[in-house]
Amino acid sequence: MDTSAVSSARADELDARDPLRSFRDRFVGADDPSVAAYLDGNSLGRPTASLAGAYQRFVTEEWGGRLIRGWDESWFELPLTLGDRIGAATLGAAPGQTAIADSTTVSLYKLLRTALAARPDRHEIVIDRANFPTDRFVVQGVAAETGARIRWIEPTGTTGDADAGTALAGTEPTGVTVDDVRAVIGPDTAVVLLSQVGFRSGWLADVPAITALAHEHGALVLWDLCHSVGSVPIELDAWGVDLATGCTYKYLNGGPGSPSFLYVRQELIDGLRQPIQGWMGDGDPFAMAGDYVPATGIRRFLSGTPAITAMLGLREMVGLIEEAGIDAIRAKSVQLTSYAIALYDERLASLGVTLSSPREEARRGSHITIDHPSFKAITAALWSRGVIPDFRPPTGIRLGMSPLSTSFAEVETTIEVIRAALVGGGGRQ
Ligand SMILES: *Cc1c(COP(=O)(O)O)cnc(C)c1O
Repeated sequence: MDTSAVSSARADELDARDPLRSFRDRFVGADDPSVAAYLDGNSLGRPTASLAGAYQRFVTEEWGGRLIRGWDESWFELPLTLGDRIGAATLGAAPGQTAIADSTTVSLYKLLRTALAARPDRHEIVIDRANFPTDRFVVQGVAAETGARIRWIEPTGTTGDADAGTALAGTEPTGVTVDDVRAVIGPDTAVVLLSQVGFRSGWLADVPAITALAHEHGALVLWDLCHSVGSVPIELDAWGVDLATGCTYKYLNGGPGSPSFLYVRQELIDGLRQPIQGWMGDGDPFAMAGDYVPATGIRRFLSGTPAITAMLGLREMVGLIEEAGIDAIRAKSVQLTSYAIALYDERLASLGVTLSSPREEARRGSHITIDHPSFKAITAALWSRGVIPDFRPPTGIRLGMSPLSTSFAEVETTIEVIRAALVGGGGRQ
């Protein structure tokens, strides 16, 4: 019997039974015949179908019609009002603790400096070698600037730095565990900076346990939520997280370069100072006089003029997440990644492909990575045929499943095309 026909039927059945299937039509390009499968929504989410109309209205009515009055009428507050909506829909954050600002890189810098300033008698930053490059680079820059020391974690079961978390042969791929943090944290640790979901492995860290451990040692935590927000339930308030930031162009579909969000726990906000003092974080920005006095509340974490036009995509997507609910989104995400692993077992494992992501669903975000020496060439061949995962060096194909816009059929198509390329040498042409 032809296994691909059997599995296509399985994909069709999974799609037919998916309670969130109707959301797929609410994204641009879901019916584009030139894209057979898009599995990179974890890097750049699709635009929502309502966005073109929202931009049109923004240009003609809000910006074109209201002109400078727009700032008083809604834009000045938008970084905070939209922040509150993200907080409620995806972060488990009560109002007043989340703001939209800058890029994730800049927000990481601001929050890291803030954390070090809040622990002036401590000099260490904890981070892992498998973390995303920008996180590591910001830490290295801040360490050079402040004299802080870096305590590197080598996540268990990975080859570490150069391969950014490639699984060691014969080991179950993992990421940063509570024990990894316990091994490096100490009385001089000011802040622990980790990603909730590893950008390569998809490892889902135990945020509440690691946060509690850091607090036992008197350190602050700064969680990077880029690869989790919008796909994994997050409870920042309940977990006692101090500081967090994340991208809005991945599972929050804000569009290329849409700004980051940042979160600061309520009881800390008014005691903290961030390093990029600008007029938009001042207590009275339009007084145009006097010295900087930080605003009360989360506004003090803003610096310059907020990127209003870049928040429109995000605003549309947050509406869809509010409608679907994060628990239903997570349920579909787990089903999608489990299905991808089942197809990997069935069709790729015997072809020398390794799985570099956790099998345990509770420890997995919404993407998986598989490795094979020919994947660089194969990815290029896939892209030219409208099958779009992404390549992560040295040998990884990353399959990102964005629960509201990815179908089971897309997962099946991608695995099947990878299998055919491996068997037929299609990647080397
Ligand atoms: C995508 C990603 C970033 C990107 O930061 P930008 O400033 O938006 O370029 C940072 N950290 C992690 C963990 C990411 O996944």
